[in-house]
Amino acid sequence: MDKIRAQQVADERWPQWKQPLKTVHEAMAVHGWPQTDKPDCCGEPIYIESFIGVPYLGGCKKCGKFVVSVDAPEWGNSWVAPIDPEKVDLDTDKLWIAATRITQ
Ligand SMILES: [Zn+2]
Repeated sequence: MDKIRAQQVADERWPQWKQPLKTVHEAMAVHGWPQTDKPDCCGEPIYIESFIGVPYLGGCKKCGKFVVSVDAPEWGNSWVAPIDPEKVDLDTDKLWIAATRITQ
């Protein structure tokens, strides 16, 4: 069975942020963030969320800019569903999108 392309997963998961997938560094560059482990944005270090030690989300609480990886797990109230590498082709560096949340 053919694996689903990561781009297709991203487009279905985040239709409001459709864009070509990027490397993490390309995604960070969209926001003008320096290529460090934990860059500053709006004068504060960005927050990072990880799953089993692997970061999948980084963002700024002030301006809402964030980068997220397509292999980010989905969280429910009492469950977490990691992306299944048997079903999705994750064999690429380009797994990230860069977007901005609307902040009130
Ligand atoms: Zn910011």
